[in-house]
Amino acid sequence: MNNSTTSSFQVELTAPDISAYRKSNVGIDYVTRLDSGKPGPHVIVQALTHGNELSGAITLDYLFKQNFQPTCGMVSFIFANVAAYDMWDPANPDSNRYVEEDFNRVWSDEVLKGPRDSVELRRARELVDYIDTADYLLDLHSMSAPSAPLMVCGVRPQGGQKSVNLAAKIGLPEWLMMDTGHPNGLRMIERAAFGDPSKHNTAILLEAGQHWEKACEQIARETTLKFLKVTGVASAEWADLRCSLPAVEQKVVQVTEGYAARSLDFEWLDVYNGLEVIAKAGMALAEDAGHTLRAPYDNAVLVMPSRSKRFTVGSTMVRFGRVEGLKG
Ligand SMILES: [Zn+2]
Repeated sequence: MNNSTTSSFQVELTAPDISAYRKSNVGIDYVTRLDSGKPGPHVIVQALTHGNELSGAITLDYLFKQNFQPTCGMVSFIFANVAAYDMWDPANPDSNRYVEEDFNRVWSDEVLKGPRDSVELRRARELVDYIDTADYLLDLHSMSAPSAPLMVCGVRPQGGQKSVNLAAKIGLPEWLMMDTGHPNGLRMIERAAFGDPSKHNTAILLEAGQHWEKACEQIARETTLKFLKVTGVASAEWADLRCSLPAVEQKVVQVTEGYAARSLDFEWLDVYNGLEVIAKAGMALAEDAGHTLRAPYDNAVLVMPSRSKRFTVGSTMVRFGRVEGLKG
């Protein structure tokens, strides 16, 4: 049965009540700064870039409830697209990725300083100067398909290698993805100093697994704990005590190209979850209004095939990549 374009996944996670975190100590709703009073980096963890990706919100709620305090520097927790999160409906979990537009495609200065307006742009404009003060940023996401977790590390010559190096120190997850940027607009992890290899500022984006699967919660939590440890703001003892996932051998998949839907009739020919290796170039993978999507080369890795019902013409449906070493 081909149900690959429907979102028939069970919602196993519970969306936490985050209303208590609205009150901010930096003057921006849903931004909380924890200041150790000692020198050190500014480390940001952001959840809810996409409104229906619950594991990030669960992770921040957990860290608040554990009374996390940095041992040096400052840590900020941000719930980003709360307007979208507020629309969460477990009976229709695909419906609140964003309100008006994808919050993670608006991060070029050209768009932020341009004339356009939307719920997401207003929130991005509120946050951008604060985001730009981060030495290290972890942006917590999840995926529409039940792919193994992966860390999005950006574009190799534009800061991506520093992101890979940071993800290698964290040691999770197994797959690190380098790509060619997003054709529909700049992501937060690529903006300003994050995308400049001559600056130390480093951003990574975790895709913790399928949006609503239970396993997502632990991946997001432990990756965040290790991120706080390796950036120096949490003690190893404190973080390690709360982690139990086994060590993995990490590898990099270098994305070479993406495929954007040409029509709303886009349909997968089989069930793809992500990180499948297609042995032969030319294998038919999907039909899209008379066009057949085929594997572009031998041993092409399918990265984040979209299983969401909510796509438009131009939405990225899949990326193709090759496996590489950590050093490039
Ligand atoms: Zn996301």
